[in-house]
Amino acid sequence: MTQQKLSETVQAAAGLQEAAGPVAPTPAALSALRPLGLGRVRLGEEGLLGQWRRRNAEDTLPHCVDNLHGSGNIGNLRTAAGESEGEFAGMWFADSDVHKTLEAAAWQLAASPEDAGLRSFVDDTTALLARAQQADGYLNSYFTVVAPQDRWAKPDWSHELYCAGHLIQAAVAAGRTGASDALVTLARRFADLLVERFGPDGVEEVCGHPEIETALAELYRLTGHRPYLDLARRFLDLRGRGLLGHGRFGPRYYQDHQPVREVREVTGHAVRQLYLLAGMVDVAVETGDLSLLNAAERLWEDAVNRRTYVTGAHGSRHRDEAYGDPYELPPDRAYGETCAAIASFQWNWRLLLATGRARYADEMERVLYNAFAAAVSSDGRHFFYSNPLQVRTGHASAGEEAAARRLPWYSCACCPPNIARLMASLPGYLATADDDGLWIHLYGDASFDAPGGRRVEMRTAYPWQGRIELEIAEAGTGQPWTLALRVPGWCDAYAVSIGGEPVRAAARDGYVRLTRAWTPGTTVVLDLGMPVRQVTAHPRVDAARGCVALARGPLVYCLEQADLPHGTVLEDVRLDPGAPVTPDHREDLPEIPVVLTATGLVADAGGSLYTAGARRERTGTPLMLTAVPYFLWGNRSEGPMRVWIPVAATG
Ligand SMILES: [Zn+2]
Repeated sequence: MTQQKLSETVQAAAGLQEAAGPVAPTPAALSALRPLGLGRVRLGEEGLLGQWRRRNAEDTLPHCVDNLHGSGNIGNLRTAAGESEGEFAGMWFADSDVHKTLEAAAWQLAASPEDAGLRSFVDDTTALLARAQQADGYLNSYFTVVAPQDRWAKPDWSHELYCAGHLIQAAVAAGRTGASDALVTLARRFADLLVERFGPDGVEEVCGHPEIETALAELYRLTGHRPYLDLARRFLDLRGRGLLGHGRFGPRYYQDHQPVREVREVTGHAVRQLYLLAGMVDVAVETGDLSLLNAAERLWEDAVNRRTYVTGAHGSRHRDEAYGDPYELPPDRAYGETCAAIASFQWNWRLLLATGRARYADEMERVLYNAFAAAVSSDGRHFFYSNPLQVRTGHASAGEEAAARRLPWYSCACCPPNIARLMASLPGYLATADDDGLWIHLYGDASFDAPGGRRVEMRTAYPWQGRIELEIAEAGTGQPWTLALRVPGWCDAYAVSIGGEPVRAAARDGYVRLTRAWTPGTTVVLDLGMPVRQVTAHPRVDAARGCVALARGPLVYCLEQADLPHGTVLEDVRLDPGAPVTPDHREDLPEIPVVLTATGLVADAGGSLYTAGARRERTGTPLMLTAVPYFLWGNRSEGPMRVWIPVAATG
């Protein structure tokens, strides 16, 4: 980016300072923390998060727009508007890809209002949506063009409310950033139709794919129109009464098997479960219904303690894109849909705001840097749908199913536009603020412009290094306030200094809280120790028994075929348990700031498939192993990869 363009961007961002980001609790909400807002956080160009966001703006988002045209999504809307005779293309919920891309564009416009391409995409697409909208407010190209007789007739399958939810979320983004009033107007027309049809005196129905709940709660936050929130709550209250029927996979698949406040386990389709949980938290804090929040926190414990991959991925079954049994976490058959990683991040943000508990920020960080980040290629134009933790030698991928490399687009393209909207809204997830001070939850090269004239600059090479330097650029009125800094759950040792002087600052509930009458120019350094961790899984995770995963800071690492000597089979490699694993930089891998090096051994893979009695594995000559960050796997060459590394037997 040129210096001039950068300064224009900075000025424009300053003009949109008040723009809220994803999730903006109303003043009355039971919310422990308040987001600082999208417009008050600026990501620097040097840091990894800033690089990701720029790549999203320059590559992923334009790539999504191109594919909406190329795959027929835009054409479907033209047909629905009566402007073309084309055949309907793609999935029956293809409109949702348009809506998610619109949402991404709206968030991005907060930082790049001068971007003419984005501007015209938002304006043109909004105008097209308005023309495709029916007189009563209904808007869905599939049920307008292909199956008008089935409108609202198949809620278990239709995704109509799911698509409506994504349209509403795009409108919320447009409303918060000022990107498009027209989009807000047309989404409200549809939402008003939903209130009329499904509201207090209306039809008792829920959607097979949750999403509408969180969308309506956010639309209420944007507009203050209470019927939207009431309808979101009604959709939650109606779940678990069997309204969706049995379906192909049973009611657990779409979370209709039990009332939401009584459920004890996450079940079924992971994305649906996680979007539903996001809606539960939104409605809980806006209505003061703690039973919903308690249920969401209880389900978090089930999900994170028994059914989440070490990368933060959710979903271990391909068949129904679903959670498995407790501890059923096969690395090679991991589903880990990208959308589930995104949904987990969004859900954890809601829980963090509601409760202020650091464990939710920890989970945001884990999924952001691992399961989510891995879904995008380094060029920003190729994507994973499922995110395995192991790809075997000889892996047979049937196109989109369990792909061993990132693909430019998918016939069910839910993930790429979802990536675009999260990346575009990323600054909105870093910090919270109130009269007492500023809380920083995620670290990166960034600056924070908190209300009351409190401005903090943060410089760091995180996640590659643990040293985080902050400068109080503007200190406010001179009254004391608190700078709260998260100490990640993985961090055992850290040090804090203020103005170069070490201070004793014990983290309480996951945060170091520094309260001072700050003066401008004061520096604060948080130094997080980042030793390499050899992570083991709970003994019931059979699929990872005898293995370790290497991690450093928030990053999980993996072994790739690309780093093995020719002829060595990755499945035969063992980690030498007695040798150290050390951070390193390799000149021939300039794109990876920190790799891990270790000593490995190659096991003798001879013998028959099954043997009577214990098998004693012989290991041969040592070899040097290089582990790379999981999120960067598959960018050099296609080939086997594994996160869980078997440890050589001792003795
Ligand atoms: Zn997806």
